[in-house]
Amino acid sequence: MIQFRQAGVCVFESALYQTTATVIDTPDLVLVVDPNWLPHEVQEIVSYVDSIKRGRPVYLLFTHSDYDHIIGWQAFPEAITIASEAFVQNPAKDKEVQQILTFDDKYYIKRNYPIQYPEIQVVIKKDEEFLSFGQTRIRFWLAPGHNADGLFALLEPLGIWIAGDYLSDVEFPFIYHSVEAYQSTLEKASKILSQARPKVLVPGHGSVCQEGPEMGERIIFSQQYLAAAVRHAQEKEVFDEEALLAAYDFPLGLRGIHLDNLNLITKSLHKS
Ligand SMILES: [Zn+2]
Repeated sequence: MIQFRQAGVCVFESALYQTTATVIDTPDLVLVVDPNWLPHEVQEIVSYVDSIKRGRPVYLLFTHSDYDHIIGWQAFPEAITIASEAFVQNPAKDKEVQQILTFDDKYYIKRNYPIQYPEIQVVIKKDEEFLSFGQTRIRFWLAPGHNADGLFALLEPLGIWIAGDYLSDVEFPFIYHSVEAYQSTLEKASKILSQARPKVLVPGHGSVCQEGPEMGERIIFSQQYLAAAVRHAQEKEVFDEEALLAAYDFPLGLRGIHLDNLNLITKSLHKS
């Protein structure tokens, strides 16, 4: 379904995990981000792109390599793909593909396109790298922490900030990679907010945000969550898990991820 729409941007929301897929269209291009999950949902995005593209080139950005975000790659075989260098060098490509195949098998899902790990044509290697097409500019920042290969993208002049799996209102930070990297990525997020003043923030899961103060609150909440998790791991400070989970609509699955976060941080402390 369509969660959010305004001139130049349409955000689709999957029934699964409120995962977003974004289509941005400017006079110069159409940019599709993370098309997902279910076949009819991916098809809705394909049809939408077909209906609006009018000869413009279609770019396909992957915010990171988690399988839910790459599941729709081959539904856009003509699109020019964009992702981070770490995405291209992901040592666990097979694992991501296997997760998609397992998901489809488990739910008897057939797709009208093959499942493969995306081949990337435009590789983003560093912060503030940008792509320009006529009046359209896409600025990128490396955003590791959630996983190792995340990217933030800011589409200008529309001011649309694609955040990948950061700054969600339906989940706290999921740390699959590194808490230190996550903290530095949040510092970048603060800078993007104060310097570029995005008009629309699109998280990978949950609701679009159009208010600067709320974007700031989402950053601060994530920082506070990480700080409390680190204090718990380092100083054995009690983490009020029940208070955390009570703030969410879907606490059952989140509890396990919170415990995984604490384990990952504890392990990384022992290593250092
Ligand atoms: Zn995700």
